[in-house]
Amino acid sequence: NLQVPQRSTPQELENKQAQIFPRKRNMKAALVSLVRNSDLSEMRSTIRELEDRFNYKYGYPYIFLNDVPFTDEFKEGVTVLTKANVSFGILDSESWGYPEWIDQEKAAHIRKTAKYMHAGSESYRFMCRFQSGYVFRHKLLEDLDFYWRIEPEVNYFCDIDYDPFEFMHDNNKIYGWNLAPTELKETIPTLWDVTKQFMREYPNHIPKDNLLKWVTDENGDYNGCHFWSNFEIVNLSFYRSKAYMDYFNYLDKAGGFFYERWGDAPVHTLAVAMFLSKDQVQFFNDIGYFHPAIGFCPEGSDSRGKCVCDPKEHPEMNLECVKRWDLV
Ligand code: GDP
Ligand code: MN
Repeated sequence: NLQVPQRSTPQELENKQAQIFPRKRNMKAALVSLVRNSDLSEMRSTIRELEDRFNYKYGYPYIFLNDVPFTDEFKEGVTVLTKANVSFGILDSESWGYPEWIDQEKAAHIRKTAKYMHAGSESYRFMCRFQSGYVFRHKLLEDLDFYWRIEPEVNYFCDIDYDPFEFMHDNNKIYGWNLAPTELKETIPTLWDVTKQFMREYPNHIPKDNLLKWVTDENGDYNGCHFWSNFEIVNLSFYRSKAYMDYFNYLDKAGGFFYERWGDAPVHTLAVAMFLSKDQVQFFNDIGYFHPAIGFCPEGSDSRGKCVCDPKEHPEMNLECVKRWDLV
């Protein structure tokens, strides 16, 4: 007779986790990724590094979300890499698909004719819309105060010897970022105009000490600077706020997630710029990080340091927007 192991109750699980990972504070936070089954190997590589550099000490849970069910192979493949709790969620049709007001023929035509990166991809647009307006409302994230977004195939170059969630909490930080390149303008031709319209209609959402200076040039146009949202640590009350939801719904109505290719990175960034002040935003320039194409290797990383990266190989490629950050 096979013995079926008894499942722990959620409370038992929490107690067990508290013994393995004694934390200073009981932060309601998780590492979250929307990811495909086909990204398993790259996701495993991300988890391995995050565990080795950080999470083996803290045991933050992982939450994986997908528009289709995760395979057993995926579930096992990521779960074996951590002692922390891992959960898997699926998206509903509202958060992954077309709102009723979108002209799908028009969207299809644009996918055929547009030329920028991922121009022809429908799923990429669903992904960007989901990350912009839905991830923080998913049932599995309901109890979370903070999330740290993670992606397949990224590198964490250095030991992270403190808890960024706790840091955010203790210092009243709302949004944390690491890389800030400039956006391909072809993907967002009308995003700034729609955003300006939004600001005119909702002036009460825009505090005086905002960060709009960081995202605008001398003519008042969007300069393309954006936090690269494949890394972001966020107090989720920001995305759940009335101001952010009004903004997302306004953008969603305008249709640019489908008629153009609005990315969640510029969307999050413009929201931060409108609604937050600089002291609420944390530049994690101590966290060595790479996502294919660009990365950040902290100054002073050498053969004896705790980082495994070469500052010469990953010079600050995002100079323009990072320098600008110091000036605002
Ligand atoms: P990039 O970073 O802009 O090049 O876009 P990625 O291809 O890395 O996608 C961003 C994140 O969304 C990654 O974690 C992907 O695994 C995930 N993703 C992209 N498209 C899909 C999709 O169609 N389904 C699911 N489940 N995840 C997706
Ligand atoms: Mn990516």
